[in-house]
Amino acid sequence: MLDGIEVSGAILDSVRDATDKYVASGGRRPGLAVVLVGTDPASAIYVRAKRKDCMKAGITARDIDLPADTSQQDLLDLIDQLNHDDDIQGILVQLPLPPHIEETAITNSIKSDKDVDGFHAFNVGRLALRQPGLRPCTARGIVTLLNYYGIDSKGKHCVIVGASNIVGRPMGLELLHAGATVTTCHRFTTDLEAFVRQAEILVVAVGQPGIVNAEWVADGAIVIDVGINRLDSGKLVGDMDFELAARKAAWITPVPGGVGPITRATLMQNTAEAAGIHIVDPKKSQD
Ligand code: NDP
Repeated sequence: MLDGIEVSGAILDSVRDATDKYVASGGRRPGLAVVLVGTDPASAIYVRAKRKDCMKAGITARDIDLPADTSQQDLLDLIDQLNHDDDIQGILVQLPLPPHIEETAITNSIKSDKDVDGFHAFNVGRLALRQPGLRPCTARGIVTLLNYYGIDSKGKHCVIVGASNIVGRPMGLELLHAGATVTTCHRFTTDLEAFVRQAEILVVAVGQPGIVNAEWVADGAIVIDVGINRLDSGKLVGDMDFELAARKAAWITPVPGGVGPITRATLMQNTAEAAGIHIVDPKKSQD
């Protein structure tokens, strides 16, 4: 199993270590503004977890909770203030936003060097062009996860199911940069099964349980399940049937305890890096 709790813990330890050293040498402790608009219960849970990770990573969280009827202009004004605030190195606006607020306008209003989610068009463009910049956390975190376990994606056929701006597309770019041959499947892909069967590394990020039949997984494939779905029973599951897929896969991420915590830990890594602190990616010890 690819253990997201272990890897996220190792990332948070690296960030804590580096930020503490930075502060001890006279640097300013990095600050992350965590902005939540409205009371969406899932968003509130994510935001709480991110704030907790800040404590573990030695990052000062500034919590800003706004009512659901906050106007787009008020949110833009707040971001403008945060863009100019020297105590804040990272700005995170939790998505989704209420429907009257245009998400792209918000993500692109964050100063690109404080855009720790990596969603600003400038940062996505830099990722596409293989230039250094703040990178979307889930895709970057998955690369850290693969590296942690010594899994080399070079030359492998990686199939990504899902093509969203926040997961699928940046994932394709990350794996392409790592030397993989990448296929991205989406809503209009006609024979999903045929592509999944070819995947040496399979990343599933749709948000529909069972969208990929676990029987299609090739023997020995590496399966990364990004999906987070809450069943009527309250149980949290991924997009794959874990038990079935685990019988065929060489490595697989669980849900919960897989990609989710790594995404959050990578947000801390991005925040420290936005503050100019260099973080070394952790690797699994061979002992
Ligand atoms: P979106 O709804 O933005 O994107 C879903 C993607 O799936 C779209 O690209 C869509 O294609 C594609 N899709 C829809 N139907 C099919 C289909 N039948 N076959 C193939 N592809 C299809 O979701 P997100 O990317 O934001 O999130 C995906 C999942 O990952 C969710 O469960 C979310 O909760 C979870 N998530 C988990 C994170 C973590 O840290 N673990 C972080 C972020 C998200 P098209 O583009 O054509 O519409």
